Amino acid sequence: MANREYYDVIIIGGGPAGLSAAIYALRASMRTVLIEKASAGGQITLTDDVENYPGFKNINGYDLSEKFLDHAKSYNLEVLSREATVLEPGLDWHTVQLNGDERLKSHAVILASGGLPRKLNIPGEDEFYGKGVSYCAVCDGFFFRNKIVVAVGGGDTAVEEALYLSKLAQKVHLVHRRDALRASMILQQRLRADKKIEILWDTIVTAIKSHLGEVSAVDLQNTQTEETRELATDGSLSVLASTRTINWFPRAPKLIPTGMCAPMRSVKPIFPACSRSEI
Ligand SMILES: Cc1cc2nc3c(=O)[nH]c(=O)nc-3n(C[C@H](O)[C@H](O)[C@H](O)COP(=O)(O)OP(=O)(O)OC[C@H]3O[C@@H](n4cnc5c(N)ncnc54)[C@H](O)[C@@H]3O)c2cc1C
Repeated sequence: MANREYYDVIIIGGGPAGLSAAIYALRASMRTVLIEKASAGGQITLTDDVENYPGFKNINGYDLSEKFLDHAKSYNLEVLSREATVLEPGLDWHTVQLNGDERLKSHAVILASGGLPRKLNIPGEDEFYGKGVSYCAVCDGFFFRNKIVVAVGGGDTAVEEALYLSKLAQKVHLVHRRDALRASMILQQRLRADKKIEILWDTIVTAIKSHLGEVSAVDLQNTQTEETRELATDGSLSVLASTRTINWFPRAPKLIPTGMCAPMRSVKPIFPACSRSEI
């Protein structure tokens, strides 16, 4: 295995957190490399409308990520299109192994590897993933045009996705296990004004059912009364929230109960990048 390069900072992940970190590191004249396994920009590329980024009243997520990347590249950011597979913490040098067995070394590592959708873990979910079950309305909303869809969750992501879906679907049932939403107030107001969205409070989805190979219904259970019922649907969208993708790191940063990361105080130069009310 060849030791390719030595850096001051290795950044793993090219989403908003990784690109922001890169801008700061390069402006501090640190020798920096950013590792990105897919295309730079991360999850924000999946949304049509970003409305909470100062300076832009409304901007397409992909366009915003291009601006992040252009900004970082204006400081000559080196981007490697590879996957980081192993991180070995060291005293002087940390080692990051890439797919293909290449190794990079650095004094500091910034973990900005982002999140994955949180699954419901119910019967039918894996079986119908990509065939009626989706975790991204912007990516798959087209397939739900004029259909009756179930969306799950009560946070910003779930509500944004339900609002996006309602532009395409015939009807959206938003299933939420509690009697109040966690989503920001402006999103809740839009949700309540949307005639195509019905909120099913105190309810969980317990199974996704099919007929002739297509999603046809979900089983619901009321969390207060435990009453069960079947709801006819053409598709289901699980948009609860996301969990961090840092399982590949041997001494992973401590996760708090929501699955988000906490800073590593014992290993100073390894920084998990945490965004959006995670800690
Ligand atoms: C549909 C949708 C709509 C959203 N809308 C908004 C919004 O309007 N406003 C808002 O503030 N936020 C919004 N968000 C949330 C926002 O996108 C995230 O908070 C943000 O992208 C998190 O940035 P990040 O850099 O931490 O992680 P991510 O964006 O997840 O980026 C992580 C990157 O790391 C890469 N990676 C992972 N593991 C490895 C590895 N081992 N090796 C190399 N690369 C790796 C991934 O490919 C990815 O590109 C939305 C999210 C979604 C999904």
